[in-house]
Amino acid sequence: MRRAYIETYGCQMNVADSALMTHVLEDAGFKVTEDVNEASLILLNTCAIRERAEERVTARLQQLGQLKRIRPDLVLGVTGCMPKHLGKELLDRLPKVDLFIGPDSYRHLPSLVEEAALRPTFSLTLGDEDYSDLDPVSIEGIHAFVPIMRGCDRFCTFCVVPLTRGREKSLPLADVVRQVRGAAEHGVRAVTLLGQTVNSYHHDEDRFRDLLSEVSEVEGILRVRFTSPHPVEFEEDVFALMAERPNLCAHIHLPVQSGSTRILESMKRGHSREEFLALVDRIRTHLPDVGLTTDIIVGYPGETDADFEATLSLVREVQFDSAFMFRYSPRSGTYAYRKLRDEEVPDAVSAERLESLIAEQERISLQRYRRWEGRHVEVLVETVSRRNPLNSVGKSDDGKTVILPGTPEPGTMVSVPIARATSHTLIAEGVQEREAAPDPAPVESIEV
Ligand code: SF4
Repeated sequence: MRRAYIETYGCQMNVADSALMTHVLEDAGFKVTEDVNEASLILLNTCAIRERAEERVTARLQQLGQLKRIRPDLVLGVTGCMPKHLGKELLDRLPKVDLFIGPDSYRHLPSLVEEAALRPTFSLTLGDEDYSDLDPVSIEGIHAFVPIMRGCDRFCTFCVVPLTRGREKSLPLADVVRQVRGAAEHGVRAVTLLGQTVNSYHHDEDRFRDLLSEVSEVEGILRVRFTSPHPVEFEEDVFALMAERPNLCAHIHLPVQSGSTRILESMKRGHSREEFLALVDRIRTHLPDVGLTTDIIVGYPGETDADFEATLSLVREVQFDSAFMFRYSPRSGTYAYRKLRDEEVPDAVSAERLESLIAEQERISLQRYRRWEGRHVEVLVETVSRRNPLNSVGKSDDGKTVILPGTPEPGTMVSVPIARATSHTLIAEGVQEREAAPDPAPVESIEV
C-alpha cells in the first residue's frame, strides 16, 4: 500500500484541508502515515500569509528534497496558499519538488500525484470548489473543525488570502448540518465553524444566524464556536441567538488589525475605530461575560507613532482576553505591496512597537484571566494533559484553556474552582504548581 505523509502549516482552515486531503488519498488507496520515513508521497500544506511562513516551508522542502537521493521514487508536493501565491517561480526555487497544488484542486490529488511521478505538475486554478460532498471535517478527539465557507471577497490591502483562496463560496446549510451530525455520531462534542469571513456565510436564503441556530440544535453538540468573523459582517440577531443558546459559546475572535481609523481606512477594513468599539459594546450588552480575542498588525505602511498609540489605547479600552499580534509582512500581489512600499515602517520601529504591544496585551490578559480566580468555571474536558497524565485539559465557555486535576471522560462537562491563572491558562484547584501544563503554543489565526 502506498503511504502518504502530510505536514500542515498555518491556520485552522489548513488543518481542515489536510483532513480533506487525507480522505481523498485514503479513498484512492493510500494509507496516511505520521512517519515521514515510510512515505512515498510527502505533502506540505502551506500558508502564505507572512514571509516568515513561506521561508520555513522553503527550508523544510529543501531538507525533504535531500531524501530523493536515497528514495528516487518519492513524490514531494507543496499544497495550499504558498504554491498559489508564488506559482511557477517556486519550481525555480525548489527544483526537487514535483507537485504544486492550490486550495481548489484537492479533489484531483490522486491523478495529480500520478502525473507528478513523471514530470513537475501544477494545478493552481481557483474556481467554485466547496468540497461540500466530501465532508471536509477535521476531527481530533471530541473536537471538529467544520469549514462552512471558503475564500474571501473583502480584499483588505495587506492580505493575500483572496488571491490564494479565491472568492467567497458558502456550503449548503444542509451539508454543514449533516457533517456536524456525522461528527457528533463519532463522539464529537465541540465544533468550530470555519471561514475566512465566517459570519458572511450565505447560501440561497440561509444566513449565518440560520446556520448557527441549526448547528446548535444537533444532538450531542455541547459547544459551538466560529472563526474568524469580520466586524462589518455581523448582524445583531447573531448575538441575541448566542445569548439564548447555552451551547453557542460566549467567545468571539474579532480581528481589529489597528486602533487607528486612518490605518483602518488605508487597510480597507470597512469600519472605523469608533464603529469597532460600538460593536464591542453591543456584543457585551448581549454577552456580558464574552471572551474577546483579536488579531493586530503593527508597522502597516504609513503607521505613525500616533497611529500605534491609538492601537495601544484601543487594546486598553476593549480589554481583549488575548491577541495574535504580528509585524506587517509585505505580500506580493496585494494592494499594499504594489502601492505602499514607499511608506513601509523600518523593521526596528515595527519590532519595537510589537514588543510593547505584546507586553501591554500580556498585562491585560493576566488581569482578564485572574478575574476567574476563586470562581467556578464550566469546562468541557478535551484530553488528558500531555505534561501529566493525572491532569486533564479542557476549555471554558469563553475560550480559555483550563488545567484540571483527574481524568474525567473527554467530552464531559465539569464545573471546577479556579485556583490561579496565568495570562494564557486557568488552573483549577488540586493541580500542583509543578504539574501545571505549560501555556499552550498559540495557533495561527485564520485571518492574518
Ligand atoms: S484579512 Fe480577512 S477579510 Fe481581509 S482579505 Fe484577508 S481573509 Fe479577507
